[in-house]
Amino acid sequence: MPAQGRPAIFLDKDGTLIPDIPYNIDPRRITLKPGVIQGLALLARLESPLVVVSNQSGVARGLFSEAALQGVQLRLAELFVSCGATLAGFYWCPHHPDGVMPSHAIHCRCRKPAPGLLLQAAQELGLSLAHSWMVGDTLADVTAGLRAGCHSILITATVSRPLVADGHVPYHRAPDLQAAAACIAVARTQDPWRHRHAAAASHS
Ligand SMILES: [Mg+2]
Ligand SMILES: [Zn+2]
Repeated sequence: MPAQGRPAIFLDKDGTLIPDIPYNIDPRRITLKPGVIQGLALLARLESPLVVVSNQSGVARGLFSEAALQGVQLRLAELFVSCGATLAGFYWCPHHPDGVMPSHAIHCRCRKPAPGLLLQAAQELGLSLAHSWMVGDTLADVTAGLRAGCHSILITATVSRPLVADGHVPYHRAPDLQAAAACIAVARTQDPWRHRHAAAASHS
């Protein structure tokens, strides 16, 4: 039997983990949104890699370099640790069709709602997408998650937004990451992956 990949929890960055300051790459301006400390602490207990997936069209727009995103990654990793969590990966899409950098002004397969970032992470980290979750604050996040075969949660303050994303419907909605994490924790107790994982561990 092939090795069973681990399920991940994919997290959007801007507007989900941190306040959305457009095109910000200054680590000092990266802070956690309300509910994220509690949410990350809860997610850390689920034994799933926490992977941030983010559209960073500022690269294609010539506003900053991909190297500058290393500082963002370090700051995120630091914030995760402060919550008792580990940042397992930070994947970004540097493209945008309207960009000014010829190398990056393309229609790519990784800008959400495309699922490319999740697929790449799954391959590199050995993840089981069918048991993974995507949490984000836009329908592009939800759609990327569903296209990758994951469960999706939309972080939304209101309940009146239309919920049809690419012919799909978000699996759940939650007001913040803490509520989303609680939702995933409950679902995980019923996930067949967990039972197979536990059974395999007891036989090893
Ligand atoms: Mg967002
Ligand atoms: Zn891309």
